[in-house]
Amino acid sequence: MTTEPYVGAEGDDHLNEECAVFGVFGGVDAGALTALGLHALQHRGQEATGIVTFDGEQFHAHRGNGHVSENFGAHSNGNVSRLKGESAIGHNRYSTSGETNQRNIQPLFADFEFGGMAICHNGNLTNAFQLRHDLVRRGCLFQSTTDTETIVHLIARSHQSTVDDRIVDALHQVEGAYSLVCLTQRAMIGVRDPRGVRPLVLGRLGDTHILASETCALDIIGAEFVRDVEAGEMVVINAEGVTSLFPFRDRPRRFCIFEYIYFARPDSIVEGTSVYRARQAIGAELASEAGVPADVIIPVPDSGVPAALGYATQAGIPFDLGIIRNHYVGRTFIEPSDSVRHLGVKLKHNANRAMVEGQRVVLVDDSIVRGTTSTKIVEMIRAAGAREVHMRIASPPTTHSCFYGVDTPERDKLMAARMSVDEMAAAIGVDSLAFISIDGLYRAMGQAAGRSADDSGFCDACFTGDYPIALTDQDSDAGTNQLSLLAAAS
Ligand code: AMP
Repeated sequence: MTTEPYVGAEGDDHLNEECAVFGVFGGVDAGALTALGLHALQHRGQEATGIVTFDGEQFHAHRGNGHVSENFGAHSNGNVSRLKGESAIGHNRYSTSGETNQRNIQPLFADFEFGGMAICHNGNLTNAFQLRHDLVRRGCLFQSTTDTETIVHLIARSHQSTVDDRIVDALHQVEGAYSLVCLTQRAMIGVRDPRGVRPLVLGRLGDTHILASETCALDIIGAEFVRDVEAGEMVVINAEGVTSLFPFRDRPRRFCIFEYIYFARPDSIVEGTSVYRARQAIGAELASEAGVPADVIIPVPDSGVPAALGYATQAGIPFDLGIIRNHYVGRTFIEPSDSVRHLGVKLKHNANRAMVEGQRVVLVDDSIVRGTTSTKIVEMIRAAGAREVHMRIASPPTTHSCFYGVDTPERDKLMAARMSVDEMAAAIGVDSLAFISIDGLYRAMGQAAGRSADDSGFCDACFTGDYPIALTDQDSDAGTNQLSLLAAAS
């Protein structure tokens, strides 16, 4: 358990988190396997990490700020060896703005009537503030500011008799996106929300069962991929094996398309599709839709690389690494303030003058959010002597915030929500700018054009504003009220 002091709730100006979850049931060194799994999922969250294990008698936990290697690596004072047991679950937490609150680091743990249970969550609940408000009024004492704790209290208050039924009862009351992994004294439980917004896969290593956000976390421990946990499915893994339940009303699947565009690791297979191949196909489609005469295609590393390869192959233009990334700096979004974020971009990328000077360059990136990265990179490529700089983006303009677990800024900070494409091109300083169309994106994903988002099976709310799950807290302003309540209380 952490010993750091509680940082006040004022530190968190929103509760969105995008994260990684991982779990092991029935295997020696479950804690060490979980540390490895979390290491492979580091891209999904770099702010904090934690593991809870169960050794047949008691639970053990370690949570801390920073990367998995800092908390569970060779120089972490034997944290992993203290995590004894044959079952374990773990979590990586993505950066949110504001101070890191130690009490928000997952797995959350609570002692219930039925015994201890740890819980990890990837996603974001859209009615958590409202539920929390009601629960606080009814006397619940919250320990953290994460939406996940709402689920803990709902489980504690459920009148159902079994643990599984209590979890289902709690989840019937929440709205939003969740891929959950829970650990009790007897079982590991994985659940995906009825829309299946965030990923969750089931794997196997001999007799050991694994749950993970992405398949790349199975690869690192040599586990085989069994299948995706389905939208609306709850898998209960215990000494008898794996039981599958579908306790939620059937709703159209709406998997987050941004997982393919940016968030998932390219070597993962997500819902049967290689993330790398999806990105290449999007790049190729982008070249067909918005080609431009040029000498060289340059990816914005690393997330733009597969799309740039697809673009270059389709366009028949050479691909070169015209920007070199320093891998020892975190992702730009991690920096908390705008001034530092600018600095972060400069620290992270450098133009490779030999590949750029005198060339007509097409820069390919996965997305433009605030526009900070693009502006700096274009400036850098021009300073390195490029003759023309064109930018092609492997997603439609990001015009809406995500409330389902991807940490996007508020709408008024999204460049595409404030400006037309031509205005963006002028602001970024490119000779031309184009985004893949939404139809082009679906074509690249193997979908027929003109289908509704429900038919496509994807959530594309960040590009279309079509939010498939009610935004109860946003619509009711409950969030604001709840935050002031928390600030006043702390
Ligand atoms: P910006 O400077 O705000 O336009 O950032 C855009 C860059 O951030 C793109 O190159 C993406 O690779 C990356 N990006 C997009 N969405 C996210 C996100 N939710 N979290 C972290 N990075 C992101």
